[in-house]
Amino acid sequence: MAPISKHDEYDFLVIGGGSGGLGAARRAASRYGQKVAIVEKSGRLGGTCVNVGCVPKKICWNAASIAETIHDAAGYGFHLEQKTPFDWNSFKHKRDAYIKRLNGIYERNLDKDDVEYISAHASFVSRNEVFLSAIDGTGESKTIRAKKILIATGGYPLVPKTVPGAELGITSDGFFDLEMLPKRVALVGAGYIAVELAGIFNALGSETHLFIRGETVLRKFDPMIQEVLTNHYEKIGIRIHRGSREFNKIERTGSGSLLIHVDANEQQLEVDTLLWAIGRVPLIEGLGLEKVGVETDSLGMVKVDEYQNTKVDNIYALGDVCGKVELTPVAIAAGRKLAERLFGPQEFSTRKLDYENIPSVVFAHPEIGAIGMTEPEARAKYGDAAVKIYKTSFVAMYYAMLETKGPTSYKLVCVGPEERVVGLHIIGLGSAEMLQGFGVAMKMGATKADFDNCVAIHPTSAEELVTMV
Ligand SMILES: Cc1cc2nc3c(=O)[nH]c(=O)nc-3n(C[C@H](O)[C@H](O)[C@H](O)COP(=O)(O)OP(=O)(O)OC[C@H]3O[C@@H](n4cnc5c(N)ncnc54)[C@H](O)[C@@H]3O)c2cc1C
Repeated sequence: MAPISKHDEYDFLVIGGGSGGLGAARRAASRYGQKVAIVEKSGRLGGTCVNVGCVPKKICWNAASIAETIHDAAGYGFHLEQKTPFDWNSFKHKRDAYIKRLNGIYERNLDKDDVEYISAHASFVSRNEVFLSAIDGTGESKTIRAKKILIATGGYPLVPKTVPGAELGITSDGFFDLEMLPKRVALVGAGYIAVELAGIFNALGSETHLFIRGETVLRKFDPMIQEVLTNHYEKIGIRIHRGSREFNKIERTGSGSLLIHVDANEQQLEVDTLLWAIGRVPLIEGLGLEKVGVETDSLGMVKVDEYQNTKVDNIYALGDVCGKVELTPVAIAAGRKLAERLFGPQEFSTRKLDYENIPSVVFAHPEIGAIGMTEPEARAKYGDAAVKIYKTSFVAMYYAMLETKGPTSYKLVCVGPEERVVGLHIIGLGSAEMLQGFGVAMKMGATKADFDNCVAIHPTSAEELVTMV
């Protein structure tokens, strides 16, 4: 059998062929001519984002948005008759084929940039040696050496350990394997993944239950966003079970459905699919971190400084495995900056990713965008007297012709006499596309006056952000 890798030694070895690993590997090889290899154990490149995250999720969100548009069409005079129900199965297979094409494009890009792609599971042997175990007959397992090694192994979704029958549920990974749209679905969790998937199921016609611990979803977001979305989700038919605690047990019924014993009072719910969205943990199992002394925190996140250095010389980590800001563009940007710092010219020796003011979006129904501090965070940091809030809620013009209106609410959090905008929170149609440009303004330190000096674009929802009083 052929050896699993072309060489025995590399300048830079990247463990994990996801967003962060690919960003770092490609920059190191294409721009700085380093001898680079990337090891991926799943047999497909692109990591969580491409295979079980952002990309297939956004395609599902698009499908859900089309379902909503079809529903709204009558308000605009289009009387559409849907002769057959939404064809989840053919949609799913077409979506999978697109992802497969992307996997191929990623592989060709590595080839173009002269990065060697090794399909194997990697684990540390020593500080500059990694053992590659073959996983799919692609070659003979062996140990290779590298001058510098990057850990970019991502994370995986949690399933509760203490609930009997929890394994009968799926996670976001399993969502992408569903061959049929469940008639009844229960999701557990209040974070963005739970909110996004619940919105998709509901728009496509599943009876959707969402179990949350507190009173609102998206607890890390500004209170305005939490309240507006939670209320709207209930209005559009998502059944939110507030104050939910750990389920008593889950059982499979004779008909194949799942019976959730919700609490000790024998409250029960029968569903076809149960989806856990209760958090993600770093994927460090079997990586051999203990052999080299790379430190992790109590949650298993790899500890790094602001330059992505671990405590061990020449070993770095970034992306979800460090758990700082778990988003694809963050992992890619951290990877590229790291490659620039390690292999670029002297003037790049202090390059690092600025983790301040990172815009983030939730593909809920409607979308949400947020950047900077929430109102409570700003008040805690600067004091009430220094904080000025601008808020607006209105009905977007899209809904003028419709009976059922969706919400649009915007908030600017400003501080100091100059009213520097330190937080921007928006919910409403188009928020995802809208946020990027406002993100640039915030990165440049825009003040409320800067916002006001930009002439409005009419008629849009975004114009409300530059005309707030
Ligand atoms: C449902 C869902 C939706 C999301 N939506 C968005 C979104 O809309 N926008 C956004 O920005 N982010 C989104 N994210 C988050 C985003 O996917 C992650 O932040 C991003 O993929 C992290 O990149 P990474 O490189 O750190 O890890 P990953 O992309 O997870 O890549 C890690 C790779 O390492 C491999 N690996 C692990 N251990 C080993 C080993 N020992 N040897 C070899 N290979 C190994 C894994 O197989 C994996 O391919 C979403 C995530 C989920 C789950």
